[in-house]
Amino acid sequence: MERCDALIVGGGPAGSTLARSLRGQGLDVVVMDKETFPRDKICAGWVTPAVVEALALDVSAYAEGRVLQPIRAFRTSCLGGTEVETRYDEIVSYGIRRCEFDHYLLERSGARLKLAEPFKGMERQGDVWVVNGRIQAPLVVGAGGHFCPVARQLGAKLGAKETVVSAQEVEFKLTPEQAAGCPIDPETPELFFLPDLSGYAWVLRKGDYLNIGLGREGNRGLSEQVTDFVRFLRERGKLTFDIPVKFHGHAYLLSTRSPRRLVGDGVLLIGDAAGLAYPQSGEGIRPAVESALMAAELIGVVEGDYRSVRLATYRDNLYARFGRPGTGGVSGFLPRSLKQGLASHLLASSWFARHVVIDRWFLHSHQAPLAA
Ligand SMILES: Cc1cc2nc3c(=O)[nH]c(=O)nc-3n(C[C@H](O)[C@H](O)[C@H](O)COP(=O)(O)OP(=O)(O)OC[C@H]3O[C@@H](n4cnc5c(N)ncnc54)[C@H](O)[C@@H]3O)c2cc1C
Repeated sequence: MERCDALIVGGGPAGSTLARSLRGQGLDVVVMDKETFPRDKICAGWVTPAVVEALALDVSAYAEGRVLQPIRAFRTSCLGGTEVETRYDEIVSYGIRRCEFDHYLLERSGARLKLAEPFKGMERQGDVWVVNGRIQAPLVVGAGGHFCPVARQLGAKLGAKETVVSAQEVEFKLTPEQAAGCPIDPETPELFFLPDLSGYAWVLRKGDYLNIGLGREGNRGLSEQVTDFVRFLRERGKLTFDIPVKFHGHAYLLSTRSPRRLVGDGVLLIGDAAGLAYPQSGEGIRPAVESALMAAELIGVVEGDYRSVRLATYRDNLYARFGRPGTGGVSGFLPRSLKQGLASHLLASSWFARHVVIDRWFLHSHQAPLAA
């Protein structure tokens, strides 16, 4: 039987961040992932400076041979309405490619990696868990994203009774001709809020890569909405060629809507497994990284006593930072008070676009980053 101090299921940003922090505390950590890395993840791939800070990411080292697109402005609108450009003097976000970003973080974590190994199950034997019948650990962390099997172990009804955000996305490399004629400024992602305020679509250029997507609460009619959005981009001259690959979809939970149980004896959830994405923007990488840092801090404090009563502090800290379930607005992405007619009016305002949409909803500039 193999042994470790902590077994993390899932090597995305949540899992690799926790692994690195626990290695820093001197623990023997195993990260298990069903995929081999580099692997892709459906995502627009923009991260805020708060993520860079929380990860203690050396941006110049990271940028060597990888895409790290500085973002200094956003163009926002109610789909089809007036577009407003909000520009900053400094870098306010970065565009990354998840196949590169997640691989880099996982390799950097220093954990023992069990890749191409799906989680099959865990059994309680005294004070420890035995995972997949062969690895023994006193602590198992679910970091397997929205469909995390450890969340299921804690009773989550994956996909059944949960109100999710559904999103579809494509990312592809532009040919030199497409790149030359592409009207999307790499430093200025474009966001198009849906008229019913249930979500938004985006176009983001990262170096020679273009990422297009749409995310919103619920999934009925999503594919048709994506098709309409692509047609809209063509009509507006923002897309001047056929998209060479198919859209792929994924789902996840917003922090204020997540019904998941987050801790049990010797087990806790982080990142999308816990359902922590920000309600207004759907940003999930920062909550994934920060939840991992918060879990690491508590794990250091409890000194091996992983009973659920000791781990409950982690859950309370998460609620305090990301919002308690049941406190979110009806529309999911946007506050309840922002009605449809008002939205197109407000989104056309430069003040509202800067101070509310970008600074507050997307950059969370009112919330200081957690330190690594
Ligand atoms: C279309 C779309 C666009 C998005 N855009 C952004 C964005 O621009 N910025 C942002 O901050 N957030 C964005 N998000 C959200 C973001 O992608 C997630 O919040 C983030 O990936 C969560 O990280 P994680 O580490 O918790 O999970 P993940 O990144 O999902 O990693 C989970 C890992 O667990 C592994 N795993 C799953 N099941 C098993 C199993 N049974 N056994 C072993 N391993 C398993 C997977 O292979 C994977 O490597 C977007 C989401 C979508 C769907």
